[in-house]
Amino acid sequence: MLCLSKKMDVSHGFERTLIVSPHPDDEVFGCGGLMQTLIQSGKHVELVILSRGEAVHKCCCPNEEEIIMSARAKLTDAANGILGLPVGRIHRLDFPDGDFISARNRTELFVALGKLVEDISPTTVLIPHPYENSPDHEAATNFMENILRGSSIPLCYYCVWTWYHMPMYKILRLRYKNARLLQVGDRESKNRAIDIYIKNRARCGISYSGDLPKPFIHAFRWKYELFFLK
Ligand SMILES: [Zn+2]
Ligand SMILES: [Zn+2]
Repeated sequence: MLCLSKKMDVSHGFERTLIVSPHPDDEVFGCGGLMQTLIQSGKHVELVILSRGEAVHKCCCPNEEEIIMSARAKLTDAANGILGLPVGRIHRLDFPDGDFISARNRTELFVALGKLVEDISPTTVLIPHPYENSPDHEAATNFMENILRGSSIPLCYYCVWTWYHMPMYKILRLRYKNARLLQVGDRESKNRAIDIYIKNRARCGISYSGDLPKPFIHAFRWKYELFFLK
């Protein structure tokens, strides 16, 4: 039976949670509600954003990479602040936005990411679902699984593009018994955090997060968030 009724239990294992977000916005879209719940129940949450989000505007706003990256960093601080995450718990790395795969041989990025994980010493790590069908997201998941291979830290998958991009044939391959639903406690705040990302626009008039399809955004305003335990 395809059952999605199991509730996410955050009472154990989430004492120190690390959310790994490929771009500045995925963390709010995919796990903003979880973040709120954890923070409100006194758990320690840290966020690492792997890239600065410079690629979205490379055609429409050429030569404005620095402006875009700086604006997106401010949006991240503001959006996550609404959810209760202090700026000091937001970390940023320089994986090449839109081309994570090319970072494979850039040892310094993996050393920095590995060190961050070691310093934070998480009891759970959230990464994008392997069926995201977004090259950066899939690469991010792959990188994190490699970094954590052999460790006992549990991984939990969150969904961003999974909602929108997953091919039909993969629906039957999802591990439904590992699916967990989390009811978003404060949807008004999550919606405000989403809006920070999608309603602020670059000089070209397009949202800093890009021209995102409406049904894609709609999924994040649902009263639940969907996770898969690994
Ligand atoms: Zn993303
Ligand atoms: Zn632009």
